[in-house]
Amino acid sequence: MEDLSTIIDELREELAERLKSWLKIASVKGEAAPGAPFGVEVRRMLDQALADAEAMGFQVRNFDGYAGDIRMGEIGVEPLAILAHLDVVPAGDGWKTDPFTPVQEGDRIYARGTSDDKGPALAALLAMLALKKAGTPLKREVRMILGCDEESGWEDIDYYKAHCDMPRSGFSPDASYPVINTEKGLLHLSLRAPYSKEGLAVKSIQVGERCNVIPGEATALVFGDSAFCDKANRLAVEMHLNVKAEPRPEGMVLLSSSGVPGHAAYPEIAKNALGQLTLFLRALGVTGALKTLADAVGMEYDGTSLNIRCSDETSGSLTCNLGILRYDESGLYATLDIRYPILCDHRSLTAALKAALGDQIEVTVEKQTEPHHVAPNSPLVMALLDAYHEVTDRPRECVATGGGTYAKCLDEGVAFGCSFPEDEDLAHQAGEYTSLDGLMQSMRIFARAIEKLAGK
Ligand SMILES: [Zn+2]
Repeated sequence: MEDLSTIIDELREELAERLKSWLKIASVKGEAAPGAPFGVEVRRMLDQALADAEAMGFQVRNFDGYAGDIRMGEIGVEPLAILAHLDVVPAGDGWKTDPFTPVQEGDRIYARGTSDDKGPALAALLAMLALKKAGTPLKREVRMILGCDEESGWEDIDYYKAHCDMPRSGFSPDASYPVINTEKGLLHLSLRAPYSKEGLAVKSIQVGERCNVIPGEATALVFGDSAFCDKANRLAVEMHLNVKAEPRPEGMVLLSSSGVPGHAAYPEIAKNALGQLTLFLRALGVTGALKTLADAVGMEYDGTSLNIRCSDETSGSLTCNLGILRYDESGLYATLDIRYPILCDHRSLTAALKAALGDQIEVTVEKQTEPHHVAPNSPLVMALLDAYHEVTDRPRECVATGGGTYAKCLDEGVAFGCSFPEDEDLAHQAGEYTSLDGLMQSMRIFARAIEKLAGK
């Protein structure tokens, strides 16, 4: 019998070709159809992956197009879950190649979904195949669960849980190495307040689509003449803000703020254009709830002026993002996305924040998710770190994230792979790519991890 590492090496061609066939399916969430709750392309992707796995000799199940699973080993015995997803975010602008026509350049394959999450899903599936080919005896079930709604509402996981047993323990290759064992808690708040007739007259602000996105651009339409426009531009320079004012017809001025877009969980590497815009509006004399927002949030992402700044050693610091702001005569609507450390209590946090915003702004909790933590010395985490270290010779380390992964769907779940610490992260961005060498390395890591956790 061939040894496992030789078998894995021989799967390289299979990895490249099969991945390209998966990447050609534009599995972006679409309109629901019979048997295809997230659209026909997502269903087609699920059918393809399950057919491929069946052809490899695995037992597969399709949960009505919501999710599927692929099983091996001792079915029903303490299943070890591997949670990945087959849906992708829309292509977006800025691609140099067609996002759904994979292009290989040397070791890299470019297409939407290469790193998030089709590449990692396939690497895990081929690790299972390698163990099967090697005849590795297993004492537990190994179950890969393929979700179809990770990028939107996680309805796939709800459906899966409602229709079959969810394993207790496992990992999700949908983030980075080493092991992510801590996920901060999440609070989505909406803010509502009346329009203010005092001070600077604002016609309209319509910024942001999603609570968890840091706006890279933000504009406001305000009333003002050319003298006001000149004054605003001088002020922007004085305040070192990247904002400009331009005259518009009918006595209007357009204020445009530029920042660096990003994800709410990682504000350190972004710059919130909307927060910057509120600071500018305050300097121009805006009053009411907009001024309060500038005072209490502005460009701060650590919650200092909201009186909610906190951190703990395991999870790091709280983050806060002003993602959406709509303001006109009908009033103000805004959202805050807050990611809080595991030792922080969300009720006292909300209370402190309400006090800081004052009576004028009505605060509603739209969504709250508890923090998630798996002990670094648990057998799961230790086995994963050992596998990672043995294959790569890199240090065993646990890390925390503000992002949310499928890992928290499991009582004992962690995120594990597939990007390495030095990899460029282009998930959800134009030019997303994956490295075949990296995925081959992930196959070795996953095979070894499964052996450690489920091998006899
Ligand atoms: Zn993902």
